Amino acid sequence: MRTKALPLHLSLHEDSKYDQSRAFCNVSTENGFEVMWEDENLVTFRVRDPACEHHFQVIPKEHIPSVRQLRKSNVETLKAMVNVGHQLLEQLAVENTMRKMGFHIPPFNSMGHLHLHVQALPYKNFSKKLKYPIVDGFKPFQKGFSWFVEAHQTISIIQQDRSVGLFPCEEARSRG
Ligand SMILES: [Zn+2]
Ligand SMILES: [Zn+2]
Repeated sequence: MRTKALPLHLSLHEDSKYDQSRAFCNVSTENGFEVMWEDENLVTFRVRDPACEHHFQVIPKEHIPSVRQLRKSNVETLKAMVNVGHQLLEQLAVENTMRKMGFHIPPFNSMGHLHLHVQALPYKNFSKKLKYPIVDGFKPFQKGFSWFVEAHQTISIIQQDRSVGLFPCEEARSRG
C-alpha cells in the first residue's frame, strides 16, 4: 500500500529537518537511494549532498543504532565495511592518502542507523570539512575529543573491549 512507502519528496540528506532518522533501516533503490553495491550483510549508496567529489555510506543491514553500540564482536563487520569502502575508492582511482572513513558520534549523528562515511578528499569547503574532524589521542587514548571517529580508531578501540564516545576513550578498566 502507498502509505507504507517512504515519501519521495523527503530529502535523504543528513541535515534534513524531517524526522527520518530511521531511513537507513530500509536502503534500496525503490526507496530512493543511489545504491552502488550490496551483499547480504552490507549496502553502499551515494550521499545526496556529498561533502567531497566521492562521498558514500557503507552500512550494515543489521540494525545497529550508532558507533557507540559497537563492541568487540562487531570487529569483523567493521573490517568488512572498511574493505568495501577501499574497494569502491580503488575503482574510482582515489589514492590511499586521499581516502577518509569514519563515523559520527551521537548526539552528532542525525541518522539512527550506523553508517560509515567513505570520502575522497579534499572537501568542497570548510563547513563541510568541519563535520568530519579526526582528532588523534595522546597515549594511551586512541582518539581525542571529537564528534567524528575514524574507522581505524574505532576498530582499535573496540578490539580492546572499550567503546567509542565523544571524549578521549578511557583505558580499559581493570576488574576487582
Ligand atoms: Zn536501522
Ligand atoms: Zn553521519
